[in-house]
Amino acid sequence: MRSLIIHNPNSGFGSDAIFEFERMLIGPGDECCMRLLRSDEPADEALADAEDFDVCVLSGGDGTVSGMLHSLAYRDVTACVFPSGTANLLYSNIGNAFEPAALARACKAGKTALLDLGEISWCDDHGVERTRGFSLISGIGYDAQLMRAAIPNKKAMGQAAYFAAVLADPNATLATFEITIDGERFTYEGISCLVADTAMLQGDIELIPDCRLDDGLLDSIALETKSLGDLARPFLAGLFDRTGKTLGRPTITQRRGSEIKVVSSEPLPLEIDGDAVDGLVSGYTARVLKSAIRVVVDPTSPYYPKDATA
Ligand SMILES: [Mg+2]
Repeated sequence: MRSLIIHNPNSGFGSDAIFEFERMLIGPGDECCMRLLRSDEPADEALADAEDFDVCVLSGGDGTVSGMLHSLAYRDVTACVFPSGTANLLYSNIGNAFEPAALARACKAGKTALLDLGEISWCDDHGVERTRGFSLISGIGYDAQLMRAAIPNKKAMGQAAYFAAVLADPNATLATFEITIDGERFTYEGISCLVADTAMLQGDIELIPDCRLDDGLLDSIALETKSLGDLARPFLAGLFDRTGKTLGRPTITQRRGSEIKVVSSEPLPLEIDGDAVDGLVSGYTARVLKSAIRVVVDPTSPYYPKDATA
């Protein structure tokens, strides 16, 4: 087997596990190329020869990995997501076993699933149109403000950095959002307007129910709330009702579609899979790239092919 490992050395806590994984992945007759990303290196460059390998292991935080997956969209490449970041939410959503030996076995077994990817475009501070891939949740408003506040603490505090950011910055900007979903228009008042490819958060809490990586749809999520007290309600509901099917998600409005356009009355911060983008934006367009990526899955994943034998 020929494998390519692309590793972001600046990812969070687990950043040495990839070397242990490499030892488990290779055996007699195998070849493995390990590439460490430079901080300014575009994913397209690092993955230019990805077709030459049987599997490409993408190791980094959710933002880095989503960028690499975007570069692999609709290419003849099998990708394996490796959890080296702070939260590793994409890895949790794919649902493979959280153990390097099991993941190495899954790479050798070669069972894969075709998953969707999100693509988000916006206009930056200089009027330049930007586009990036995302695999979890992106959008504008309060949560992006939190991501930005959490950055300095992410390395030291891990996931607790996000909660610390909530406590440090309880003020949210209220805006009016014009949302167009596959041609249909809606208006909301709220503090956040997000779009999700999949929406399971830390601790297996589903922000919205039945959100999947293979349904060919994105979920538009508006947080219609004005205060931190209101915001606590959906998250508390999340703790007591992880799937969202009994209590629902008060203050969250959700709709599904394949193209979602958002215009905000106020300039707001933007985040893409947990990475804060520089400057403020007045909206974005998100579209789904259906079945765009081929990803290694093991038998514990809900995306493991049903007709496969473990
Ligand atoms: Mg989906």
